[in-house]
Amino acid sequence: MIEENVKKLLDEIPERNPFGEKVTLVAAIKTRTVEEINRAIAAGITDIGDNHAQEFRDKNDDILPSARRHFIGHLQTNKIKYLVGKTDLYQSVDRLELAEAISARYAREGLTAHVLLQINIGDEQSKGGFSADDAESAYLAVKALPSIEIDGLMAMLPESDDTQLLRALATRMRGIYDGLNARYGGFKHLSMGMSGDWKLCVECGSNMIRLGTAIFGERHYS
Ligand SMILES: *Cc1c(COP(=O)(O)O)cnc(C)c1O
Repeated sequence: MIEENVKKLLDEIPERNPFGEKVTLVAAIKTRTVEEINRAIAAGITDIGDNHAQEFRDKNDDILPSARRHFIGHLQTNKIKYLVGKTDLYQSVDRLELAEAISARYAREGLTAHVLLQINIGDEQSKGGFSADDAESAYLAVKALPSIEIDGLMAMLPESDDTQLLRALATRMRGIYDGLNARYGGFKHLSMGMSGDWKLCVECGSNMIRLGTAIFGERHYS
């Protein structure tokens, strides 16, 4: 099942978005076993993303080393220690305090952290992230920190059947990404799109999608 899902998705996901950028598939691994994750990697998954720092700590050594490691969940600053030096991309930097803590820790280790800034594009109470209006000031504040490089932006669209609304939000997100990149440069990733909305997101200019259910099936929380 996992193998079939991965093959089908890799066929289905366009190699490039309408901006000509390569689309990267990240497997969202929360609640999945090491065995399931490694089957997905063996079937062609090149990037994995975890939401929980302790889960990452417990599983990381047993997950095939070939896959790039992303962190995609809410991160408490006291959990950075489980991720430092092992996370290729922190996608969910949702507040300045977190960026400062990552920067301080990486500076101490003599390392550079690669991050995306999470933007709360739907302006939802239930979600973290900088507001769209604050994106530039957040960018400048994080950019000024040592030992941190901003590789782009991440967003989660609201849960909605209103595709017009979702398209408008995804397009606005791409506009913010292009605006900052035109002014300051250096962006590589606009991470936007989950199992339910990835097609729309790629059409609107996402170049990184994070899929869980579409790869592994429904999640069962114990
Ligand atoms: C769980 C999760 C995903 C994947 O969600 P699915 O709907 O299962 O594809 C993507 N991004 C984040 C941040 C997640 O927590």
